[in-house]
Amino acid sequence: MPHTVPACPQCGLENTYPDGSNYVCPDCAFEWPQVAETADTDADAGDGIVRDAVRDANGNPLADGDAVILVKDLKVKGSSSTLKKGTKIKSIRLVDGADGHNVDCKTDLGSMLLKSDFLKKA
Ligand SMILES: [Zn+2]
Repeated sequence: MPHTVPACPQCGLENTYPDGSNYVCPDCAFEWPQVAETADTDADAGDGIVRDAVRDANGNPLADGDAVILVKDLKVKGSSSTLKKGTKIKSIRLVDGADGHNVDCKTDLGSMLLKSDFLKKA
């Protein structure tokens, strides 16, 4: 039966053979345990980006394109305007902004970065 015995990890020669639960190398007398082959990797074939879920004020995960509602009044930096609690924002985009500003959105007052803590999923 086809059985692949790995080369000896110590001397690199391939005259190795399985013996019980070990492999044995006759050339250098090295023995090492047989380990189940791990053909399947646990790693998910994703885009390689692992990011903590962005959660709204209620702990619900947010995603790109979600609509959200402000749960508190937010003063807009650099202006006298305020985004009112209850303002609905369509189609947010999740970003890695500075200081935890992780939601990019378009409001009536323009594009801005907000913190997901001040939003809830609409
Ligand atoms: Zn060897």
